[in-house]
Amino acid sequence: VVRTRFAPSPTGYLHLGGARTALYSWAFARHFGGTFILRIEDTDLERSTPEAVQAIIDGMQWLGLDHDEGPFYQMQRMDRYREVVGQMLEAGTAYQCYSSPEEVEAMRERMRAAGDKPRYDGTWRPEPGKTLPPVPAERKPVVRFKNPLDGEVTWDDVVKGTITIGNKELDDLVIARPDGTPTYNFCVAVDDWDMQITHVLRGDDHVNNTPRQINILRAIGAPLPLYGHLPMILGADGEKLSKRHGAVSVMDYPAQGYLPEAMLNYLARLGWSHGDDEVFSMQQFTAWFDLNNLIRSPAQFNPEKLNWINNQYIKQADNERLASLARPRMLAVGAEFNGNPALAPVLALMKERANTVNELADAAMLFYRDPTPEPALLAQHLTDAVKPALVQFAERCETVEWHRPALAAMVKEVLAANGIKMPQLAMPLRLILTGQLQTPAIDAVLELFDRDVILARVRKYLH
Ligand code: GLU
Repeated sequence: VVRTRFAPSPTGYLHLGGARTALYSWAFARHFGGTFILRIEDTDLERSTPEAVQAIIDGMQWLGLDHDEGPFYQMQRMDRYREVVGQMLEAGTAYQCYSSPEEVEAMRERMRAAGDKPRYDGTWRPEPGKTLPPVPAERKPVVRFKNPLDGEVTWDDVVKGTITIGNKELDDLVIARPDGTPTYNFCVAVDDWDMQITHVLRGDDHVNNTPRQINILRAIGAPLPLYGHLPMILGADGEKLSKRHGAVSVMDYPAQGYLPEAMLNYLARLGWSHGDDEVFSMQQFTAWFDLNNLIRSPAQFNPEKLNWINNQYIKQADNERLASLARPRMLAVGAEFNGNPALAPVLALMKERANTVNELADAAMLFYRDPTPEPALLAQHLTDAVKPALVQFAERCETVEWHRPALAAMVKEVLAANGIKMPQLAMPLRLILTGQLQTPAIDAVLELFDRDVILARVRKYLH
């Protein structure tokens, strides 16, 4: 059985790197019919906020990354961590350390001065035959993990390959503070054990934590999960992705008119590949996704590529869905939907070139603004030579079948009968119907409007 987890710290929005980690963990669980767990690592009380928890949950929901268990909150598991600390003290895999912070700082200084890596010097570490110093009065101890002194920690990272760290590099980690609260690496190890996590996928900023967690897991007799550390996401300039590169919060993307399936598809390819395949559904992705095709080098965030994928999905998207996404934005800038074409067919006509739903909404406003054209433009295009053709056009509108081929044929006949060319009729019609000269093909525009609306708007100009 496969059990994966996404374990964000709720200290800010859900960013693209986090979303990609979540996506891979989710897809891996789905691929094997396993379980995907959401765990909120909220023990950093200074930096964790309920708003950030909500932002993470909203982001996951927008993307459709549904979890099977959780959300678990580390702050609600304090009793459990205390219990394990107690068990480790009893088993001798952890010990109480009464060195004061000043003493610890002093020993570090000494080691730095001697050119050594600063670490705890083991004053309170019990060893067979060793007498510990007398316990200082009124001092609360921290609990330290009894890290092995020799040997090394090795794991086969599913992204980075084999990684080996000497135990000499690792300190006797504090696992509980003087007030009894547990520390980060310890909580993660206990959680991964209790939640029976089989595969840990996370950002490679956690590589240094892994040997510490492995040693703790070994000490408590827990099976080890497989680890995969994903390289980070860089901006196009090669720097770590940040605000400077545009939106980094996942929830900025719906606001900018991106579709969640486009975002997922984009993130899927950002650090994983399947031949030349670029556009694929999440069903396809979960069927394909395995840990063999993860890319070792950092991925570069490419907004143009994201736009391209978003356009692919907009072209496929249901038009009513696009309409419900576009409508609020259009209403906010005064769109008048009454007496104008229905929105879904307008979007269907215009979506081919839209990179975002917002772009599409803005382009569609053409049909929902006051159609009053500028008088100078009107004078230029609605000349006396054209008026008889417009009269005839209005007459023919009364009876023509209302679909695009019939409208196109009718317009051609009016042009022929009046000896004029397409722009001479189409331009004034565009102005009269939308107030603008730039619109899609005139027969497509005509079809969008109701017959009565066209007749009313054209006749206003025929006196
Ligand atoms: N809470 C960590 C983070 O937000 C992730 C820890 C993990 O996945 O092990 O970066």
